[in-house]
Amino acid sequence: MDLRLIDKTVELLLEATHAVVLTGAGISTESGVPDFRSPGGIWERYDPTIFFIDRFMADPENVWRCMFDMHKSNEFTLWDALPNTGHRALAYLEKIGVLKAVITQNVDNLHQKAGSRNVIEFHGNMLFARCLKCGKKEGYEHVLEELEKGRTPRCTCSGIMKPDAVFFGEAIPQEALRQSFNEAEDCDLMLVIGTSAQVEPAASLPLIAKGMSTLLRGIGGIALPKSNCHVVEINWEPTPLTNDVSDFLIQGRAGEVLFHIEQKIRENQKR
Ligand SMILES: [Zn+2]
Repeated sequence: MDLRLIDKTVELLLEATHAVVLTGAGISTESGVPDFRSPGGIWERYDPTIFFIDRFMADPENVWRCMFDMHKSNEFTLWDALPNTGHRALAYLEKIGVLKAVITQNVDNLHQKAGSRNVIEFHGNMLFARCLKCGKKEGYEHVLEELEKGRTPRCTCSGIMKPDAVFFGEAIPQEALRQSFNEAEDCDLMLVIGTSAQVEPAASLPLIAKGMSTLLRGIGGIALPKSNCHVVEINWEPTPLTNDVSDFLIQGRAGEVLFHIEQKIRENQKR
């Protein structure tokens, strides 16, 4: 980990008027949430097609049963996972007004558990379930109770409950899209943490932040120029953003890097 880059990032955070972060699986691996994309992961033991919307609609009972089995096997700790130093650092930065928004591709609810308030979720949240009939939202505790009794989770209206995460084949929630594109347009600093941001819509955000792509702002199809914005990457390995889009990469574990950043900012706040 390059401490000079930590200092530089602290400087940028304190100077920024609108700093936002984009997070991905890499921030949650230190909380025991498996990165579905990495080899040797959970999907070599469980069938990933249970999270395809067609499969859920065809047989919701079976999908819930698979999820419950994973939960019981202690391999899939999503419901029990706890935030780590990285999530807590971001919650602190928001609390003191340095950070304006967290845009996440994760469905683990760990930013909220850590205390972040303005969290934009691209892929929903696995700790909630929603009724397919009336839209009522429930916490996973209710669902778990039903599953423990061997029942498929149902709403009081008798509708089937579905995990409130975006399944493969489902559309990204429009409101989350709109909000995140606005944040990318408005920010003067974006930290990209634990993600190579190669999958849309996340892939567009660093480009919009940098003014390399414009989706919303503009008149008659002509983009308005965006003032200088910094993009800083905190990733374990270089990504396609490194060199081409991001100003620099802090190579390391998200939790560790963010912990250092938090400590430096706390020292600064005392002055
Ligand atoms: Zn209902």
